[in-house]
Formats: sequence, structure tokens, C-alpha cells
Amino acid sequence: VVSSAQDFDFFYFVQQWPGSYCDTKRSCCYPVTGKPDPIFTIHGLWPNYNDGTYPSNCDRQNDFDASEIEDLEKTMQKYWPTLACPSSDGEKFWGHEWDKHGTCAEKQLDQHSYFLSALNLYKKANILKALQDAGIDPDDRFYSVESIKQAIKRGVGFTPGLHCNTDGSRNHQILEVYLCVDTSGQEFIECPTFPRISCTGKVQFPSF
Ligand code: 5GP
Ligand code: 5GP
Repeated sequence: VVSSAQDFDFFYFVQQWPGSYCDTKRSCCYPVTGKPDPIFTIHGLWPNYNDGTYPSNCDRQNDFDASEIEDLEKTMQKYWPTLACPSSDGEKFWGHEWDKHGTCAEKQLDQHSYFLSALNLYKKANILKALQDAGIDPDDRFYSVESIKQAIKRGVGFTPGLHCNTDGSRNHQILEVYLCVDTSGQEFIECPTFPRISCTGKVQFPSF
């Protein structure tokens, strides 16, 4: 048993709200497969250290190889769409995530297991349902950061970190939800540390 194969402490599993990614001065581009569903989608699964720092680009010899995840591509297009411009099919985004973050967990998860783990985690953490069960809907209204965190804690079982951005009128809005995952990439845990706090007070939940 190789028990020393641990070059990080936990993962952040990060989901993004497409309505907020697109509602900025810079705007966004829908993927070639069309407008994504109005659901939280995956941004990434990121190895992190307990002190808040993180490793990146850990193995230049282990570049993304799309042929290894052909069986997952349909599901990835639905739950891990790219909204960056110009429009693309997602492989560039997934490749960036694997090269920057995934390679730092390559001892735990090979490329296929890395993406499969993220998809399995996604199924276990339905953020939109947790929010809607608490009456928090993507309806362009403002909700307190505390109520959003509580709703996710209640629905998913773990306290999230939130990352906000601002729209063209400088309203703060909910962009990303961070959950923490053990180094196996399988189980949610309470976060050892949260990234910089960028959401306070009331934030908008834009429609998409
Ligand atoms: P931003 O500054 O837009 O929040 O993040 C830019 C990029 O830096 C992210 O896409 C991600 O790759 C990386 N990043 C930002 N914060 C963290 C963090 O707390 N942990 C890890 N592992 N990566 C992060
Ligand atoms: P990070 O480095 O923060 O993990 O990932 C951000 C990079 O992925 C940026 O270079 C960004 O252009 C690209 N990217 C492509 N599609 C998306 C998307 O839908 N959301 C985010 N946040 N980044 C995307």
C-alpha cells in the first residue's frame, strides 16, 4: 500500500452559475452544442493545501488526451460546458482543468477517473435543488449570502464557500460554489479552509 502518495490535502469541487458567468461586461459564448441548461455546472476539481495555497501544472508529461474520456463526453457537455469565448466543444476547457489541476492528483486519479469522479460528485451535490427547496430561485432577486450557505448546507450536507462577481451595473452576484472533497475524490468533507471571501450581504441570483 502506497500511503505516501499524497501531495495535497483536499480537493475543491467548484460549480459555476452560467447566468453569472455570462452576466458581466465581458459576456460569454455558448458552446457549439448550444445554450447549456439553467443548472449549476462544473468548473473543476482542484487539489488544495490546508493553508490555502495549491499546486498547479504538476506534470507536463501527462497532457490531456481527449481519447481517454470519449465515453464521458456527452455527459461532460451537459454538466461541464464551457462558456468562454470563442465558442468551443469543451475539450479546451477540460484540457486546461486536467493540465492545471488534474495532474496534481495523478497519483490518486488517472485522467478518466478524475473526470468520472467530478461527474459523480456533481450527481451527489444538487446545488440548484438545495437553493430552490429554500425558496432561492434564479429570478434576478437578491438573497443573503447566509441564507444561500444555509440552504446548501441543508440540501447537500456541507457548508460551501461562495465566489461572487459583478454584473455591468456592479451588482454582486453568485458565480461559484465551492465544496470540499477528500483526496480520494469520492467523499465530501467539511472544508479545512475557504478561499478569499468575495460575497457579503445580499447578492443577486441572475436568471439564465
Ligand atoms: P479566480 O482568480 O478567477 O478566482 O481564479 C483563477 C484560477 O485560479 C481558477 O480558475 C483556478 O484555476 C485557480 N484558483 C483560484 N483560487 C483557487 C483555490 O483556492 N484553489 C485552487 N486549487 N485553485 C484556485
Ligand atoms: P481555472 O484556471 O480558473 O481553473 O479555469 C479558468 C480557465 O478556463 C480560463 O482560462 C477560462 O478562459 C477557461 N474556461 C473555459 N470555459 C470556462 C467556463 O465555462 N468557466 C470558467 N470559469 N472558465 C472557463
